[in-house]
Amino acid sequence: MSVLTVAVPFRVAIIGGGVSGCASARRLAQLAPTAQITLYEIGRGPGGRASTRKTRSLPGVCINHGAPYCDIRTELGKSLVSSFADTAPFTGVRGCLEESTGKFSPYKEEEGTDATMYITGANGEMSQISSSLLSDLPSIINTKYKTMIRGLAKTADGVWEMRDKSDTLIGSADWLIVAGSGVAHPRWTKSFGGEPPLIEAESNSPDPLLRQALDEIAKQQTSPVMTVFFSFTGQVAREWLSLDFNVAEVEGSSSILSKIIVHGNNGGGNDDIDDWCSVVLHSTEDFANQNSGTYGASSSAARIAGAASDSSLEDALIEKMMKALAKIPGIPTIDQVKMDDNSYYGPMLHRWGNAFPKGEALAQDLAFLPSSRISFCGDYVASPQQARLGSCEAALLSGTFAGESIANYYAESVIDSADVL
Ligand SMILES: Cc1cc2nc3c(=O)[nH]c(=O)nc-3n(C[C@H](O)[C@H](O)[C@H](O)COP(=O)(O)OP(=O)(O)OC[C@H]3O[C@@H](n4cnc5c(N)ncnc54)[C@H](O)[C@@H]3O)c2cc1C
Repeated sequence: MSVLTVAVPFRVAIIGGGVSGCASARRLAQLAPTAQITLYEIGRGPGGRASTRKTRSLPGVCINHGAPYCDIRTELGKSLVSSFADTAPFTGVRGCLEESTGKFSPYKEEEGTDATMYITGANGEMSQISSSLLSDLPSIINTKYKTMIRGLAKTADGVWEMRDKSDTLIGSADWLIVAGSGVAHPRWTKSFGGEPPLIEAESNSPDPLLRQALDEIAKQQTSPVMTVFFSFTGQVAREWLSLDFNVAEVEGSSSILSKIIVHGNNGGGNDDIDDWCSVVLHSTEDFANQNSGTYGASSSAARIAGAASDSSLEDALIEKMMKALAKIPGIPTIDQVKMDDNSYYGPMLHRWGNAFPKGEALAQDLAFLPSSRISFCGDYVASPQQARLGSCEAALLSGTFAGESIANYYAESVIDSADVL
């Protein structure tokens, strides 16, 4: 990758604080310390689909309710991951679990330099991967959390303007990084109503290349996952942590659960505060498709973005997924009376409407568009070394590429003008 640095001041707005948005901010800040970078994110902090929930009712307990880890497979991904601070190897036991018998078979982990690297964030918190991308940088990245971009427009001077729900101008920038396909994909209309902001902006300021990119993004489908999660402290936590697995892919015929993730801290003693465990259930894609209509009352999409969410469905779905779990032999008993105790949290539901994109990744030559001063990044975009569509690694690499492409654009301009002189 290039190591050019840039001294020209310019403003960049990043829409999305997931892995890709944070990676783009990092690369830009490293190569162009004079860039004024503002990152807008609906959620309360960075992370997106690789984020972590915490609860005041159980301090110290965390729940990775999206990606349980990042699996990094390319050379570039591995070298990037080792270049930023607070990541840790994911050391949990992974394997598959036979639903009808409860028999767990661990996967044989690969060895050697070609082996997949499984990583998590500091303290086992996935959101710390994104936080870490934003730390230790030569310039400050202005982060605006709990902020949803609802409107986008380009002025006659080519400046991007961002607006909120009440159509108030909340920022302007020379470049836009679209870090997540939300504002660009037709599914926006179903969740929030109205035209997707970037599609509307393009129809007011037409650009054939941007149109082509938007058409390609519109062809991508999404694969949803419903998650149900709960946490315990004390003896029940120790029971769960004594299971053979941390990540189990469920095999069986019920087609409700696809994965069970068990994560926590077993101090090995009787200290009920230190011993905690969070369990996250992932539904199958079919189950999530059959039960659309709710995002989970505590999700940012429902709370901040006002996505249409049917809370009456929530309890019924939680019950179905918990019943499917309880039927698996060997799973510790889940006592509803105890669930109401103050050493328990949950169960809560969160629907990831776009857990994984499906189809063709947006080609790299359509991801960086100087004609509109826009760059797309995220797990829906092709990345150097072709990381897997729908992975943290694709988000990390395409985000890095987006930041680097914009920095290079200015670096090349400087060299060009120096040549003229
Ligand atoms: C249940 C589940 C399991 C997974 N398992 C794995 C796994 O095992 N391994 C793996 O590598 N990957 C896994 N993934 C996928 C991985 O989490 C994603 O590929 C990755 O996190 C995507 O990062 P991103 O930056 O591209 O997008 P996102 O994380 O989606 O980030 C986009 C961000 O933009 C924000 N945003 C959207 N619209 C707006 C707006 N208008 N204004 C402001 N902010 C906005 C969103 O809130 C979001 O935070 C899993 C995902 C899920 C949901």
